[in-house]
Amino acid sequence: MRFSNPTNAALEKRIASLEGGAAALAMASGTAAISNTFLNLARSGDEIVAVKTLYGGSTTLLSSILPQYGITGKFVEDENDVSAYERLITDKTKAVYLESLGNPGMNVVDIEEIAKRVHRHGVPLVVDNTFATPYLLRPFDYGADIVCYSATKYLGGHGTVIGGLVVEKGGFDYFNGRFPQIEQFYRDYQDSIPEDELRQTLFTKRLRIVYLTDLGAHMSPMQAFFLLQGIETLSLRMERHTQNARQIASYLAGHPAIKEVSYPELPQSPYYGLTQRYFPRGPGAILSVRLKGGRDAALAVLKKVRIFDYMVNVGDAKSLIVHPASSTHFSQSPVMREAAGVYDDTLRLSVGIEDAADLIADLEQALDEG
Ligand SMILES: *Cc1c(COP(=O)(O)O)cnc(C)c1O
Repeated sequence: MRFSNPTNAALEKRIASLEGGAAALAMASGTAAISNTFLNLARSGDEIVAVKTLYGGSTTLLSSILPQYGITGKFVEDENDVSAYERLITDKTKAVYLESLGNPGMNVVDIEEIAKRVHRHGVPLVVDNTFATPYLLRPFDYGADIVCYSATKYLGGHGTVIGGLVVEKGGFDYFNGRFPQIEQFYRDYQDSIPEDELRQTLFTKRLRIVYLTDLGAHMSPMQAFFLLQGIETLSLRMERHTQNARQIASYLAGHPAIKEVSYPELPQSPYYGLTQRYFPRGPGAILSVRLKGGRDAALAVLKKVRIFDYMVNVGDAKSLIVHPASSTHFSQSPVMREAAGVYDDTLRLSVGIEDAADLIADLEQALDEG
């Protein structure tokens, strides 16, 4: 049934334990996990503060869908300025939202410092940890309160599943006056759920009982089964993904046709320092490049690659490549796009677990102008 299912429950337990959280909820997709999280925290008249460098769908949700229901997304001007988040917080703010590895610029933010400042105002920090997975980063260790996943990516790992997960750290004080709807939920259920359990997992309980049940974005048990299998090899895959990405990033950084490589572990990256601190195992396997030859050169590479597949998905065991300006970020204005690090000459690579030398040879021939 939609409320719960043994296979989904096993998956929820597993992700909560990998993440170090008190509870989790499996949902139909990453998009469902994120949108239902916002709906659980905010009501008409409320605000959500977010970084600009988000997955395209999340930007659209905050900038044009939720506003139609009275919930306003307010975007931080400079996500590296840790006090910029606080400046946007008002008594209507119900969450601060960011991605642990931004898409597609792979920017890294100082989660711990931001969490500290956001908590001073009694606002929870919500982190989309899709690109990192708990293998590379556990946001709760740095003060996040809620973690969202598109399990469609690395957790599933094989491009065969659409799924989302929401994980709650537990212990956030929802009785600070900002969340009357959650307080009401507590009063409604305090006689039917043990006090400790209800308090510790209040966010997830309400998400499940109110939103999963009545908006219906539940995960099918078969998808949960595939995800449980995917997670069994997560550590092996992430290790290989990251090793390959490191090699490809340094290869591309030295290629004459490449204007710029965004991979936060490169010494020239503005995120190098934060990466050393937050991603000792490496900052994942997605990187973007800008081509000196502009949009045409970028599109030509897409046609020539043989091992890399031209696909908008990421986090697959297979290597994927995309031109974000004409696909994932197409619906955004050029200004929003560029704020997210997407230019006409940008290609985004999701490096798979194939042999690194084969991948480099493929890029070599695709970048060859002869
Ligand atoms: C893909 C993605 C989403 C959306 O997830 P779906 O499972 O495709 O709905 C959200 N956030 C990030 C970072 C993603 O890459």
